[in-house]
Amino acid sequence: MGVLACDRKSCDNIMCDHYSPRFGYICYSCLQELIAELNKGGWSDFDSAVEEFMGTRHYDREVYGVEELVSETFKLRD
Ligand SMILES: [Zn+2]
Repeated sequence: MGVLACDRKSCDNIMCDHYSPRFGYICYSCLQELIAELNKGGWSDFDSAVEEFMGTRHYDREVYGVEELVSETFKLRD
């Protein structure tokens, strides 16, 4: 049995209990976030909404501001 790593982008949680044949593994924390996201509404197609969510980084919206995201993406060169 391998490590059941969360398939959400940049989430390195392991031992996920939830699995979808289409989307892969998701950890409990991301699952709660996904439910919260979907509860906000604004999506029409469930699969697309989940797919988009899996492409967002863990806690992007809650923890990081735009500045952190940009400076994390464009790192200073050595
Ligand atoms: Zn996760």
